[in-house]
This record gives sequence, C-alpha cells and structure tokens, in this order.
Amino acid sequence: MPVILALAGLLLIGLIFGPQLWIRHVLAKHGVDRPDLQGTGAELARHLLDEAGLQAVTVEKTDKGDHYDPEARAVRLLPQHHDGRSVAAVAVAAHEVSHAVQHARGETAFMRRLELIRSLVWVERVAGVVLMLTPIVLIVVRSPALAILQVIAGIALLGIRVVVHATTLPVEFDASFGKALPVLLRGRYLAAGDMQAARGVLKAAAYTYVAAALASLLDVARWFRILRF
Ligand SMILES: [Zn+2]
Repeated sequence: MPVILALAGLLLIGLIFGPQLWIRHVLAKHGVDRPDLQGTGAELARHLLDEAGLQAVTVEKTDKGDHYDPEARAVRLLPQHHDGRSVAAVAVAAHEVSHAVQHARGETAFMRRLELIRSLVWVERVAGVVLMLTPIVLIVVRSPALAILQVIAGIALLGIRVVVHATTLPVEFDASFGKALPVLLRGRYLAAGDMQAARGVLKAAAYTYVAAALASLLDVARWFRILRF
C-alpha cells in the first residue's frame, strides 16, 4: 500500500510540475543565440505590431514571464526574448503580438477569457479565506481531519484557475497557430529549417498559463501572497 501511495504521489507531482518543466526545456533548447537571425524578439515584436497598425502597443522587458498585458496594452518579454536573437525569442514575440491583435480586433474568445481571468481574483480571495481559517479550525474544533479537508477545499478552489486556462486554450492556439505561425511563414523571419523548432516553441507558449496554474496549486509561497489581500 505505501508503495502505491508513493507512486500515486510521484505521478501527481509529475502531472503538476511536468508541463512547466517541459516548457522550460523547450524554451531553453531553442533559446540558443543565433547571430544569423534578422533581429531580436523586441525588434520583431515592434515590427509586427506596427505592421498590424498597433503602434500604441508598447514592447517592454519583464522578469515575470512573457505575456501580453491588456490593461497596459503592452507586449512584455523576458530579457532573453526581448534582447536575444533565437528561435525562441522570435516565436515567443510573434505569439505575444498575436494576443495584442486578438485584443485590438475584440475577438470574442479573447474578450471572454479576459472577463474570466478578471473574475479569478474573487475565487482566489475565497480560497485565501478558506486556507487562512485552517489554523483557527484546527485550534478551535481540534479536528485535523477537518483541517486537511479545508486545505483540500482551498486547493480545489485554486484549481478553478487551471480549469479556466484549460478551457480557454483555443485562444492560445489561435495566437500560436492561427496567427503567429502564418506571420512567421509569410514574413520569412526564420529559415525553413527552423520552423520545426518554432512550432515547438509556439506549442510551449500556448500551454504556458495552464502549466503555471497547475504548478501554482502547490506553491505554498503563493498561498501566502493571496492571503495578504
Ligand atoms: Zn499566450
């Protein structure tokens, strides 16, 4: 029995952290410097935004992960993608620009996802309260079983983030394969031999939020950040 439990535990940890490790691996593998490429990720993002008539969208450097910020209307790239010349930098830049295009066009699926993500703040606050009350329940009711149940309930609430990102994966796939890939092919920003690698990066970029949401389920430090509202 303990062996089965240990295996189940390992499997669960693999399922929770595996996707994020896979994304890191893909980005690192294709993140090698390629001086032969035409420009950095930031230069390509600027060029693609201008081409799409989105001069007002800015391109910025961040250390919080590549993303498009719809509030600030900014494409934000990690330093290695902002300043780097690599297949990963090019593909990630094209992916994030695609979100700016989805937003500018007011595409229904993108706008719906925006609403869903905004409402996640409330779910996380409820999860925070449930988790915060655990020690009190433990002291007052003196029931470790109830406390464990409460922690599970808190984590299950945080799991709604995973569900939201999983159900909105079509928005990510549209950014990667409906928009970024055709743009890269049409503009010949990468050689034909690099397109397979670019496809891999675009796939990883599409799964970024689901993977991050999964990993955050067991991110105890993040629980404490939620509690500080
Ligand atoms: Zn994306």
